[in-house]
Amino acid sequence: MSSPAPGHDTIEDLRRRIAACTLCAEHLPLGPRPIARFSATARILIIGQAPGTKVHASGVPWDDDSGDRLREWLGVDKATFYDAAKVAQMPMGFCYPGRAAGGDAPPRKECAPRWHDAVLGVLPENRLTLLVGVHAQARYLPHLKKLSLTERVRRFGEDLPFIALPHPAWRSRLFMERHPWFGRDILPALRAKVATALR
Ligand code: SF4
Repeated sequence: MSSPAPGHDTIEDLRRRIAACTLCAEHLPLGPRPIARFSATARILIIGQAPGTKVHASGVPWDDDSGDRLREWLGVDKATFYDAAKVAQMPMGFCYPGRAAGGDAPPRKECAPRWHDAVLGVLPENRLTLLVGVHAQARYLPHLKKLSLTERVRRFGEDLPFIALPHPAWRSRLFMERHPWFGRDILPALRAKVATALR
């Protein structure tokens, strides 16, 4: 059974409707467990990919090694990161999508068209949006689709209010080794932007 279509409702209504979503349940090996956090005051929006098994089990977004790395990149502690009044979490797919060759499957394609506009509608307009990984960048920076991930990341500041970042999975260590400018130039500038948005 699918959930009702998004409409005009309160944030609590929207949270409840997302929590009850079963739109693509038949494709989810562990069943629906939507993970998204948002509020009307969150000036930072993180659009990631989809929960992994650990996050599916805990129900806490970025509750894994990738989350630790992302918090280090942003220069924020856990208390700030998990304060929905300050930081919103809206992955491309809200539920664990299962496995594919070489890792987790991509986010379910039904999810962002179903829910993103409704969530964006309750967030403040003057927000900084971090596009973490290629799936979020494909949706929100479609004019840059011919660029590589590296080229999009290197454009830091040119696509504001969007900032493209690599996914902070373990492979990102290789990215940082190959591209020392990321740690040297981008991360300090990113931390400054995040600090300003949180002020
Ligand atoms: S992934 Fe998204 S669309 Fe699919 S059941 Fe979960 S919340 Fe609904």
